[in-house]
Amino acid sequence: MLVPSDAKTLPRFSIPVLIAVLGVLILGVASSIYVYQKVDESGRSSVLQRTQTFAAGVPALELERLQGTEEDSGTPEYETIKTYLTVMRSVNADARFLYIIGQREEGLFFYADSEPAESPDYSPPGQIYYEATPAMFAVFADGQRHTEGPDQDRWGLWISGYTPITDDAGNVVALLGMDLPANEYLTDLATYSSLPLLVAVALVCILLILEQTRRKERAYVEQKTEFLSIASHEIRTPLTGIRWAVEGLLKRQNPPLDPKSRVILSLVHESCLGLVGRVNNLLDLSGLEGKTQVLRMESISMRSFLEDIVDSLLLSARQRNVTLHIDVSVSEDLVVTGDRQILHHAFFNLLTNGIKYTHEGTRVSISYAAEQGMHAFSVSDAGDGIAQSEQTTIFTGYHRTREAIRSGQYGTGLGLYLVKKATELHNGSVRVQSTPGNGATFTVRIPSST
Ligand code: ADP
Repeated sequence: MLVPSDAKTLPRFSIPVLIAVLGVLILGVASSIYVYQKVDESGRSSVLQRTQTFAAGVPALELERLQGTEEDSGTPEYETIKTYLTVMRSVNADARFLYIIGQREEGLFFYADSEPAESPDYSPPGQIYYEATPAMFAVFADGQRHTEGPDQDRWGLWISGYTPITDDAGNVVALLGMDLPANEYLTDLATYSSLPLLVAVALVCILLILEQTRRKERAYVEQKTEFLSIASHEIRTPLTGIRWAVEGLLKRQNPPLDPKSRVILSLVHESCLGLVGRVNNLLDLSGLEGKTQVLRMESISMRSFLEDIVDSLLLSARQRNVTLHIDVSVSEDLVVTGDRQILHHAFFNLLTNGIKYTHEGTRVSISYAAEQGMHAFSVSDAGDGIAQSEQTTIFTGYHRTREAIRSGQYGTGLGLYLVKKATELHNGSVRVQSTPGNGATFTVRIPSST
């Protein structure tokens, strides 16, 4: 079994992919931290906003008259403030505790809270709040609003907000505190801040799956290429051997072949050529399809390159009494940079077609023109030509014109498709110009800067 050389290393990823993965993850974590801060900020500012609104509504005169002791209990001022807190608490269903706290030497104490007197959580006026937190003291110290939490205490998990209540001179006389259950705040925090990270992880998964697929495809292409190179040896080589042997016999003058043997050998030669052509096209096609755009570029001296191809086709040309001609415009010093093997496919196929489809006894010629930034090679024949309507479809693969089929010439309809592929791999193109009945000219254009 053919095993691609890097099959064992498949799970490893390339450096650019790892950088991309790392980048996406860092971006995901950074976005999550940013969203966390924003959601936290907005959660806290909403708590503060509400305590500020409640604090603004506290009846100031009544508060001023409170002693901050047990004696406040039952006084109209205390009841007014208690009612205010109770009503505020009942219209803000999510608020668990509302309270007004003052400060004296022993510590922070309750002026009033929103709990009914019969509740076990009720704090009577004047009661010292031994569980007062540093944030509460801070309100009296700096006169600013503060939040804290989420904190767990004996009543639950809370996020709290404290707003100072000041007298006319701006002194902090009390604070209004509100405790909200922290669950919703925590759920929002977890949901929103995890979203960017989840998206990043999903992106990373997609990236890795795509990369894995690409690597598998590459391994498959390499496997296929390896198979093809073996196949070319196993199939193409013996076929070419048969072809040369038959051609050698056909060329033999001394002793000359008897006419009957010549006819039979010509038939063998023709079939052999057909088979070589078919196998070549199929193997070349798979080879070109598998190319990952890596061309083996070299400087090609075009005149001798084309002469070699012409030489290899002389016998087939002679059998149709066709002359192969390389125009003087293909000068000795004309050099093209390209992949020799791939360009060989292209010109071999064009010349083979010329020989097959030109009329017997005519000429197939190759000429050259330097166009702006392009090398243009044209292969012209004097055959039936190609109808305008088919001048594009002949390059699409497996398409043969009715005239070609009628001519009895072998063919797979893949040759021109290969020519197109080969020129495109060189960033070039192939076009046909033909007036039916007046032959065809195929022009291959390759950028001269390639
Ligand atoms: P094939 O193996 O059939 O020659 P190609 O892909 O090389 O396949 O060509 C596709 C078709 O284009 C041919 O079958 C033929 O119909 C037409 N064709 C190609 N070259 C010529 C030509 N020089 N003159 C006329 N028709 C041509």
